[in-house]
Amino acid sequence: MRTDLQRELQHCRGLPSPPGVALQLLRLAQDPDAMMATASNLIGKDPALSARMLRVANSPLYAARQRVENLTQALSLLGLNATLTLALGFTLSRQMSQPESNCPRERVWKRCVVAALAARLLGERVGLRQLEELMLAGLLQDIGVLALCQLFPGEYQALLEQALDNTNLLLSERETYGADHAEIGALLARHWNLPELLTDAIGQSEALAQVQLPPFQACVRVSGLIADIWMGQDTEQAHLEAQASCMTHLSLGPDTFNGVVEDVRTMLADVCEVFEVHISSPSQLRAILDDARELAQLRAMRDLQEAARAREAAEEFEGRARRLTEEARRDPLTGIFNRAQLEHVLGKEFEAAQRHGWPLSVAFIDLDDFKQVNDRWGHLVGDEVLRNFAQALQVYLRGSDIVARYGGEEFMIVLPGIDAATSANVVRRILAEVGRLPMTIIDQQPLHVTFSAGVATQDSAHAFPSIEALLTNADKALYTAKRDGRNRVVSD
Ligand code: GH3
Ligand code: MG
Ligand code: MG
Repeated sequence: MRTDLQRELQHCRGLPSPPGVALQLLRLAQDPDAMMATASNLIGKDPALSARMLRVANSPLYAARQRVENLTQALSLLGLNATLTLALGFTLSRQMSQPESNCPRERVWKRCVVAALAARLLGERVGLRQLEELMLAGLLQDIGVLALCQLFPGEYQALLEQALDNTNLLLSERETYGADHAEIGALLARHWNLPELLTDAIGQSEALAQVQLPPFQACVRVSGLIADIWMGQDTEQAHLEAQASCMTHLSLGPDTFNGVVEDVRTMLADVCEVFEVHISSPSQLRAILDDARELAQLRAMRDLQEAARAREAAEEFEGRARRLTEEARRDPLTGIFNRAQLEHVLGKEFEAAQRHGWPLSVAFIDLDDFKQVNDRWGHLVGDEVLRNFAQALQVYLRGSDIVARYGGEEFMIVLPGIDAATSANVVRRILAEVGRLPMTIIDQQPLHVTFSAGVATQDSAHAFPSIEALLTNADKALYTAKRDGRNRVVSD
């Protein structure tokens, strides 16, 4: 920092001092026992200030249901905190806005008014509660300019006039004084005894993108950049910079950002009236916001499409997984349950039969002299016969019955709830039906097969300790059927 500036700041000589009303308001703001009546008296003594308070209470910022007619109504609508904060903003900023002929300060002041509104709207989006304080901080962020104007009247005036925009101004301030108006503003705020949060927000109001800021300070920081959209020559560039800063400092995306800019645009006229300034929206702004809206719609559409695609992919994946599981259960040649699935189902049925005390019958079915089919007609014909035999078994069974390929030319049927006598009859009927049905046609001749079956039943009369025991009995019965001449059904 330049030494003469340092010296001035150390002794606080030449620094602007706050107006008397502001000092009293500050004292009130820091007094926990402050009363609305005291504030009202104080503000009432200043007609210009009273008029502004009335105007702000009637502005869309506070959206009163009814028109507020007098100061008392206005202040009770605002509440003590908003009253004191706003009044402080008005009195302090009066110094900044004092019209001086040809003073480029006017531009700085206009920027602060837009920033005040933007800071408040950002705070709403972020969910901060200190909206009045945010407005005040937005409004006072450039009080450093005031201090510099007072300390170096001629020199700083020239600097202000030459700078095209805020970025330019900061650069030449740093070059000339070794400090910018944000740092000097924070010193002035401290000198004025402003609350620490406010002082800090002023000090950080030009912080670089990589500096992490708490939400309050971040809102103030971004508010200045939003205001630049209304100030600079290149509206589009200012819009882009503000949008980027909104993302880095506040993690608010383009849609929220554009919402804030749109709100500033619509509310600005009312706020300008309160602060007695005139700011018009740049002509390109409408087009930029329209483009942004279109982009947002496109983005939303793309998101929808992507979601639909993701859903389709998930469904396809689920379908494939389902098919794979299903395939894992099936015997590839015949398409009926394989042995693994049979064991799984059989385990469940055996357990259910035991629990409920209902009968459970199983039948081992083994094709007779199947080796000869292979030997005589070849394996492909043998396969065909196995496939058609499995189909036939399924046709003659009920939906609740289970049929599986046990291995080779051996099949098993499981008949839940069917007792010994009935199950033997069911299997005999199948044997009769299957015997009539050709399993394939070779040389225009039908090929018939027979089978032997062994049936075992678990019921109250024969309680088996395990499935294995039940299956062993069925196997023994099958052996008997083979030994007794095949093409028959034997019950254990
Ligand atoms: P039995 O009446 O005593 O049951 O005589 P079998 O000839 O049916 O019995 P064996 O166990 O001697 O022969 C079974 C034949 O089944 C032997 C084997 O080649 C055939 N086989 C097993 N699995 C398949 C298969 O997947 N496809 C074909 N084509 N043949 C099979
Ligand atoms: Mg066999
Ligand atoms: Mg056999």
